[in-house]
Amino acid sequence: MLPDRQGMSLKRVALLGATGSIGRQAIEIISARDDLDLCGLMSGSRPLDALGAANGTAHTQIGGSAVSLLEACEPDIVLNAIVGFAGVEATLWALEQGVTLALANKESLVAAGELAVAAHRRGGGLLLPVDSEHSALFQCLEGRDPQTVEALVLTASGGPFRGRSRGDLAHVTVAEALAHPTWSMGQKISVDSATLANKGLELIEAHWLFGIPYAQIEVVVHPGSIVHSLVRFRDGALLAHLGIPDMRVPISFALGYPDRPALAVEPLDLSGGLDLRFEAVDGETFPLLPLARAAGERGGTAPCAYNAANEVAVAAFLEGRAGFLAIADTVAAALDEVDCSPARDLDDLVAADAGARRAAERRVVLG
Ligand code: NAD
Ligand code: MG
Repeated sequence: MLPDRQGMSLKRVALLGATGSIGRQAIEIISARDDLDLCGLMSGSRPLDALGAANGTAHTQIGGSAVSLLEACEPDIVLNAIVGFAGVEATLWALEQGVTLALANKESLVAAGELAVAAHRRGGGLLLPVDSEHSALFQCLEGRDPQTVEALVLTASGGPFRGRSRGDLAHVTVAEALAHPTWSMGQKISVDSATLANKGLELIEAHWLFGIPYAQIEVVVHPGSIVHSLVRFRDGALLAHLGIPDMRVPISFALGYPDRPALAVEPLDLSGGLDLRFEAVDGETFPLLPLARAAGERGGTAPCAYNAANEVAVAAFLEGRAGFLAIADTVAAALDEVDCSPARDLDDLVAADAGARRAAERRVVLG
């Protein structure tokens, strides 16, 4: 960390996935803050020249290994907003180095949970969730004795197909799946929200972030997306985190931690009445949530395989090669096929990811 001209500490932020939905919102926040300096930018394939020039960022990289960019730009904070398993190297690097990790890329924690927890223990840095539910849980749990926690309650909007039956979903289009009722996000997470795989990934993410057994993590549908998640304590009290759905809030919280800097967002109007409806998840119509729970309980590389197969199936759906219902069928078939022994290192994980991708591709081709 470098002192700036006023003697204030200037934190260097490496932003990975800079051209995406989270990345663009993060740039807006970082540009408005004079204690944050964008030291590195990375995208998958989109050009970064204009973004780098506008932000005075010396280190930019398109594709390849995030580690080379991170070593070159020496960040104090890594904001990992890459989509998919491609984010795993950056997550493990930041945790191992003890560099603060602001984590949007949930897939890396799902795929590499055990390795990530071990790297975090060795590195000793901060791991701050950017996912809105986990940011909410982190804040409700902060400073509490883990013994007093009975359960975590993740809220799910239910996505665009809430209330539909499985039969209704056979012919839904990509455009319908991308039309999320409360959040505007990248394509992959939007489809994951429509299948509830997103909540499945978040269940596994919560398990590794907070070290809570799956049996103590509940999921409930809350269509209003006002309550971002809750914690049940052993005395019957529940703490909840509320706010309008706006990803800039958890991004800003993670980048400013522990200072909670001011942020101009729409205030939550309480006098107008809040929609605080909650309902049970329909696991029959949305099997990717129960499948994630089963993969989490199975352990080893099962969550990695779940994630890999889901990435393949979502890509096939977006490309028009598979129907909506095929996404869950593909993940279930791939999980039946793969061996899920634990990964000892990143190479094992990469092999498990590749094996599950092959199994899922075969399934997509067979239909
Ligand atoms: P997006 O598709 O809008 O952006 C993805 C970014 O990752 C892009 O900048 C892309 O260039 C980059 N990328 C893709 N492959 C890459 C690679 N191999 N190497 C480096 N960069 C690569 O996605 P998003 O909606 O911003 O989501 C990003 C992550 O944040 C996902 O893991 C998602 O689950 C998580 N997340 C997003 C939201 C949201 O509101 N968008 C909310 C919570 C969590
Ligand atoms: Mg979320």
